[in-house]
Amino acid sequence: MSRVLIIGCGGVASVAIQKCCQVSEVFTEICIASRTKSKCDELAKKLEGKTSTKITTAQVDADDVNQLVELIKGYQPELVMNIALPYQDLTIMDACLICRVNYMDTANYEPEDINEPEWREIYEKRCKEEGFSAYFDYSWQWAYKEKFEKAGLTALLGSGFDPGVTQAYCAYALKHHFDTIDTIDILDCNGGDHGYPFATNFNPEINLREVSAPGSYWENGRWVEIPAMSIHREYDFQEVGKKDMYLLHHEEIESLAKNIPDVKRIRFFMTFGQSYLTHMKCLENVGMLSTEPVLYEGKEIVPIQFLKELLPDPATLGPRTKGKTNIGCIFTGKKDGQDKTYYIYNVCDHEECYKEVGSQAISYTTGVPAMCGALMLLTKKWEKKGVFTVEEFDPDPYLEALAKYGLPHKESHTPVLVD
Ligand code: NDP
Repeated sequence: MSRVLIIGCGGVASVAIQKCCQVSEVFTEICIASRTKSKCDELAKKLEGKTSTKITTAQVDADDVNQLVELIKGYQPELVMNIALPYQDLTIMDACLICRVNYMDTANYEPEDINEPEWREIYEKRCKEEGFSAYFDYSWQWAYKEKFEKAGLTALLGSGFDPGVTQAYCAYALKHHFDTIDTIDILDCNGGDHGYPFATNFNPEINLREVSAPGSYWENGRWVEIPAMSIHREYDFQEVGKKDMYLLHHEEIESLAKNIPDVKRIRFFMTFGQSYLTHMKCLENVGMLSTEPVLYEGKEIVPIQFLKELLPDPATLGPRTKGKTNIGCIFTGKKDGQDKTYYIYNVCDHEECYKEVGSQAISYTTGVPAMCGALMLLTKKWEKKGVFTVEEFDPDPYLEALAKYGLPHKESHTPVLVD
């Protein structure tokens, strides 16, 4: 019997909300709150009569701590699920601390304005000290660890697929298959086709920022940074086939490097088709990916935000997308003194997801783990106080819940390795 406040009502949140409503014995009451209340009302209406979860809706600007505090105090939830954007992570964590409520999200903090001087100074120091230049990193949220511990609260960071399930796969591999893990390759393959020449599968601004940035990986205790898309491999994915994939920086590498003892190398690869890459390069070259405001006919516009308006809304890709995703981790390491390899992954079908919840598989593979992360906290299967990423908890009940609610894993003990 739990009351949960869900902030955001976009592609990922709408899947998570529908999934919460499938587990109404735990999620007895939810409030959907977002910037645009009409979207929350629309979803609440769609779910009317289909669930015994009691749904209410609210309008909130999650950039404003005072508005959040008022909302949380009025609703009195046990947990706040932040499924808005990474820009709101810190304001929502602040509000949770003030109101003494547990917190979770699906992506680590990134500032909306990367030219804000106070943030920029810390960022540039971190680039020099740590050796990677992504705009997002865990330091901002890890800084809340003591505050959450002292308040007796839990903050669960990044319970989507990647980050999220990929880290649970690492914890699972370490718990059941290895004494020591030497290398981890996280492979994120989207074999889906939506028929558009160019569209992103989740929020375009966050997605394009991520993939146009330099790549990096962790090796022998330090970051190695490379120009964007400069390491390419081909891999033959089960149930999808051969795809080109590129090494990217990705947030879970940072926490895994801390939490998987003695790991020597962690890399992250994502598949991209040639059309996507050509469009992205062109948009980048003409300045459309810039986050710097420009003056147009007397009005300031941010190019990447304007581009978001032009691109298809990821939430509308569902009915058009065919094919499957295959996301997982390949490990090398040792068990009982012997060398060992292991691959654990999930395959998800875009059309099946659409049939079930009206979304494509990217929103589905993120929304289901968001619900499962919340389930772990609400049922007290995960109970530590402080700020944690997914691999810091027992992976078994989480993987069990993922399988039950739509994302079962498969495994291979003889995978083809990535060179
Ligand atoms: P969308 O853009 O579809 O949805 C974002 C939602 O947040 C919208 O409802 C939006 O409201 C709302 N929102 C934005 N700003 C505010 C604000 N200031 N106050 C209140 N509400 C706000 O994004 P997605 O659903 O694609 O992504 C959601 C999250 O999931 C992101 O953080 C993304 O990084 C993460 N993600 C994580 C993945 C993983 O595997 N871990 C994979 C994919 C995404 P409005 O409707 O008014 O715009």
